[in-house]
Amino acid sequence: MKKMMVLCLLLAAISLLNAGNGQSRITMKPFGETEDGKSVYLYSLQNSNGMKVDIMNYGCTVVRLFAPDRTGEMADVVLGFNTLEEYVEKSPYFGCIVGRYGNRIANGQFTLNGTLYKLATNNEPGGIPCHLHGGLKGFDKVVWDARPGFKKNNPQLELQYTSMDGEEGYPGTLYVTVCYRLTDSNELVIEYSATTDKSTPVNLTHHTYFNLHGEGNGHILDHILFMQAKNFTPVTRGLIPTGEIRPVKGTPFDFTKPNTIGKRINSDDQQIKFGGGYDHNWVLDKNEGLQRVATVYETYSGRYMEVWTTEPGLQFYSGNFLDGTLTGKSGKIYPHRSGLCLETQHFPDSPNQPSFPGTILNPGEVYKSTTVYCFSVK
Ligand code: BGC
Repeated sequence: MKKMMVLCLLLAAISLLNAGNGQSRITMKPFGETEDGKSVYLYSLQNSNGMKVDIMNYGCTVVRLFAPDRTGEMADVVLGFNTLEEYVEKSPYFGCIVGRYGNRIANGQFTLNGTLYKLATNNEPGGIPCHLHGGLKGFDKVVWDARPGFKKNNPQLELQYTSMDGEEGYPGTLYVTVCYRLTDSNELVIEYSATTDKSTPVNLTHHTYFNLHGEGNGHILDHILFMQAKNFTPVTRGLIPTGEIRPVKGTPFDFTKPNTIGKRINSDDQQIKFGGGYDHNWVLDKNEGLQRVATVYETYSGRYMEVWTTEPGLQFYSGNFLDGTLTGKSGKIYPHRSGLCLETQHFPDSPNQPSFPGTILNPGEVYKSTTVYCFSVK
C-alpha cells in the first residue's frame, strides 16, 4: 500500500517533468506486474521535434520508437507488443538490453582464471547447444530500477540492475547501468556502464528489431544497408565463430558500399545457409571511440538511420527466425525478416577465443560502452 502511494506520487511528479523548454518531456504509466509482483512502468521520452521513444523497465526494453518520414509523418519503427504478458511469454528479444553476455558462448561454458564456469545452453542452432544472450533469465527478463531525468534538456531514462554472483552461472556481482537519452538531433543514445566484484565476462547490447517502413508493414529486404567493415567472423553450423577474421570482399557479406539487404540473402554461400540469412558479427573498421559504423536507408519513406558505437563488432541479424507466428502492436503479423537488428557488441564467444578483443571485466575496472541510433530522412 505504502509502495503504491509512493509510486502514485512519483507518477504525478514524473508526468510533470519537462526540461523547461516547454517541449521535450517524460511521462510515465503502469505497464503491468511480473509474476513475482514487481511493478513495471512505461516511460515516454519526447524531444522537442516530437520524436518519441517508449521504454519499459522490464528488460530495459524499447517498446515504441516514432521516427518521421520525408513528409514529417511519424511511424513506430520498432517491433514489439502492447502488453507485458506478451513480452514475458514470447518475445524474441524485442527491443531489450541483452546481458550479461550478449550473443553466443560455445557449449555454454568458459574457463576463467583456472575455473570452469557452466552456463545454461538455451539455444541450439544447427542442433548444436550453446549459451545465448545471457541464459534462461538474462537482463532482458528482469525488472530494472528506473530513474527519469534530463541532461542538457534531453530526456533520459537511467536504469540500474544488480546481477548477483552466480546468477545464470556467471561469476561476480555485476552492477549495471544503462542510460537511454533522446536528443533534439533525433538520436537515441544508449550509454552502458558496469562494475564487478569478481572477474567476469561482460558484453552488453541492445536488441531492437527495426523496420523503417513502420512495424508491421512488410519485410526489411528492400532496406539499403551500409556497414563500415571489411571483415566478418565466419561461424560454424552452430553459429559459433570459427576464430577466423574473413574479408567480406567478393561475398554476400560485403556492405562496404550500400546494398539492398535482400539482394544476396538467398545465395548459396555456406555462411548465409548457416545463418538462414544474415546472422553474423562484422569486424568494424575503427579505432577506439565513438564512430559511425552502419547506415540503413528505406527509400519509400526516406527514413535513414545511422548507427554509431564505441564497440569493435556489429551483429547484423536479418530477422530470420521471425516466422509469421507473432502479431505485433498494431495487430499485424510479423512475417519472416520483417525486422532487422544491428547489435553493437564484442565478438561472440570471446571468452573462449583468445584472439578476439577481451570481454573480461575485473574488479576495479569500469565497463563503458556507447551506441547511438540516429534518425533522419533523405
Ligand atoms: C541472434 C540470433 C537470435 C536472435 C534471437 C540475435 O541476436 O544473432 O541468432 O536468434 O538474436 O532473437
